[in-house]
Amino acid sequence: MEDLDRSRVRPGIEQTQLSDLRAIGLDWDGPVVRQSERMELYEEAIEQLDAGGLLYPCFCTRAEIRAAASAPHGISTSDRYPGTCRDLTALQRAEREAAGRPPALRVRAGDARVAFEDRLLGCSEEMVDDFVVRRNDGTPAYQLAVVVDDARQQIGEVVRGADLADSTPRQILLARLLGLREPAYAHVPLVLGPDGRRLAKRHGAVALSDRSEGPEEVRSWMARTLGLAETGEMASIDDLLDRFDPERLPREPTVWSPSSTV
Ligand SMILES: [Zn+2]
Repeated sequence: MEDLDRSRVRPGIEQTQLSDLRAIGLDWDGPVVRQSERMELYEEAIEQLDAGGLLYPCFCTRAEIRAAASAPHGISTSDRYPGTCRDLTALQRAEREAAGRPPALRVRAGDARVAFEDRLLGCSEEMVDDFVVRRNDGTPAYQLAVVVDDARQQIGEVVRGADLADSTPRQILLARLLGLREPAYAHVPLVLGPDGRRLAKRHGAVALSDRSEGPEEVRSWMARTLGLAETGEMASIDDLLDRFDPERLPREPTVWSPSSTV
C-alpha cells in the first residue's frame, strides 16, 4: 500500500481497493505491507546514501525549479532539476536554512546515464537528474520507497502502468547506489478515458462498486482488452492464468467508454 502521502490517504480507501481486487479474483502473497509502517527502512536507506556523500539539501520551490529549467528562449526543457543547490557553500546553506524553508534531500546523480530493457517497451537509455529522495516535509519520496520495498520483498520483475516508465531510470540508479538487486521491468499500456487521458474518477463511474455489472463481467472485459478472452466469454481466473503470456500483451492503450464492459 503506497500510503506515504498522508494528505491523500482517505479512510476506507484501502479496504475498498483490497475488496475490489478480491472480487475480481486477484490475490496476493502474504499480509498487506504498508509503506507508512516502514519509515525506518526508508530512513536507513537515506542514511546510507548520506553517509556516502550522495545527498544534498535543496531549498528550491517548484516555481524556482521551473523558472531555472527554462531555456533562455523561454521554453521549459523538462521537469529535470537544474542543479541549483548542488554546490551551495556552507554559508549559502546556512543562509537558506535561516530563512526558514525546510530543505528536501536530493541524490547526486552525477548526470548518470541509465540504460535498461523493458519487456514490452524495449531498450532505452536516459540521463538521470538529481531527484528528491526525501521531501521537504520529511516524507521519503516515492522513488526511494519503491526501490527499498522491491528489494526487501525480493521482487524479480516489476509489472506496472506505462505512466511509470519515466521513473525507471531513477529507480535503477537508486538500486545501484544502495547496492540492491535491480529487478526486471514490464510497463503495460494504460486504460484511457474517452478523452485520451488516464482513466480516473473524472470519467464517471469507473470504480467497481459504481458499476452495474458484476465483478466477473468487469474481469471479462479486462481479459478481452488483454487478448485473453473472446467477446461475451466469461473466463475463470484459472482459464486466464493458463492463457496468460506476457509476449501477447497489447502494446497500445485501451480506450474505455462508459459502455465498455456491457
Ligand atoms: Zn534546489
